[in-house]
Amino acid sequence: MALDLVLRGGAVITPQGVGPWDVGVVGERIAVLALPGTLPTEGARVIDATGRIIAPGGVEPHTHLAHPIRTRPDEPSLTLGPEDDTRGMACGGTTTHIDFCFVRPGTGIAAALAQRTERWAGRSHVDYSFHVTLCGALPLGVFDEMREAIEAGFPSFKVFTTDVLPPQPQRPSFRLDFGRIEMAMSQAARHGGLMVVHAEDDELVQTAYERFRAEGRLDGTNMHLVHTKLSEQLAFGRTIGLGRATGAGVYFVHTSAREGVEAVEAARAAGGAVYAETLHQYACFDAEHYKTPRGFCAHTYPSLKLPEDREALWRGLVDGGVSTLATDEYPTSLAMKLRGRTIEDVTGGNLGAEARLGIAFTEGVVKRGMSLERFAAVTATNAARIFGLHPRKGVIVPGSDADLALIDPAIHKTLTRDDFHVSDYSPWEGWTVSGWPVTTLLRGKVIADRGRLLGQPGDGQLVTRRIDPVVLRRPAC
Ligand SMILES: [Zn+2]
Repeated sequence: MALDLVLRGGAVITPQGVGPWDVGVVGERIAVLALPGTLPTEGARVIDATGRIIAPGGVEPHTHLAHPIRTRPDEPSLTLGPEDDTRGMACGGTTTHIDFCFVRPGTGIAAALAQRTERWAGRSHVDYSFHVTLCGALPLGVFDEMREAIEAGFPSFKVFTTDVLPPQPQRPSFRLDFGRIEMAMSQAARHGGLMVVHAEDDELVQTAYERFRAEGRLDGTNMHLVHTKLSEQLAFGRTIGLGRATGAGVYFVHTSAREGVEAVEAARAAGGAVYAETLHQYACFDAEHYKTPRGFCAHTYPSLKLPEDREALWRGLVDGGVSTLATDEYPTSLAMKLRGRTIEDVTGGNLGAEARLGIAFTEGVVKRGMSLERFAAVTATNAARIFGLHPRKGVIVPGSDADLALIDPAIHKTLTRDDFHVSDYSPWEGWTVSGWPVTTLLRGKVIADRGRLLGQPGDGQLVTRRIDPVVLRRPAC
């Protein structure tokens, strides 16, 4: 077999365990894993991976690039687009991301997907796909379009159970009412789709905004008292009940509280196809952090919570109750991120896709005893499985795309602005890491090496998806 590329000397994370394999690549795919030194290298490029851990390229299931910033509707602006943000993903070991295509009243799903796909074409450094977001008072006929979207390779549907932001100023609604969510779930269950849910109790959240305004408690450090643990508990419970009744699988984005983790664990123990995602800033920061000078850099809706919640999120990540570690990437400038100081005008969203693998390695593997197999699962494999990218993405096996993240576990450093490639700040500046991604391959091509971007914005391709029916029937990962 003539190989195009051989990676030698690394410790490779495979579904069968971690071993000292050499990895042979033909074209864009992994062709073979073999005992050290046994692969033919004639005519092949050889990468010496001695001392490196070779992980599946990261799969980032939650980004909002080129996305309208809605905090101040009178000053419309957008988050950074794929041409900017995916530079960080490439340098940080992430090779696939899933963004969102918003469908609002007045648009159809196919037209919205066509527009979003066009925006990404030739502009992403890594591969990509889109969740379809159904929001607002959608005409009922839109739900009949879900089947076509699933068949076209877009089988995941995001809904919000809350409008998230305060009642004033007025904005177009995010929230899908529970009757419409029931319709979406029924269609997903029938045709092989999965529900992706931002679950908070809208009435608790909106009344809290009103009450805190009336009481003059607008300081942004109160955010966790508006977007509460109870709100997450109630909304997760109601959504799980609706999923059970309709037969739909449910994936909860940005789980932030112990109550959310416990609701998902209970549903899974009862056999439900229910999955929890959390974010590295939710696992690493709590609401006390809001009081620090750059504390709102780590704010994402719902909110940072308490130390007990961070512990529950890590327990879930390490032991199995939380399936994925995502970012909720929402890249802006530092000035934009910090311009609001109150519960009504703080800018949400995170800027951390580049740091995701390095933080997961440091905080999970090094500090909390997470196995390397589990590290690969929460940063790549599980998102690939849940969203129908597997086995093309998220695993290192013959036949899969040669998407690889080489991690150097010997790197110990305190992160500075110079470690990042997106925007003018990172919330992770000042954080000390042990282990950091150093080389990234996308379909056999080295797209980043030691902080240098080597790929092009046209390297990334749209990946269509189909979800394994097992994932939709029971907790598969
Ligand atoms: Zn989000």
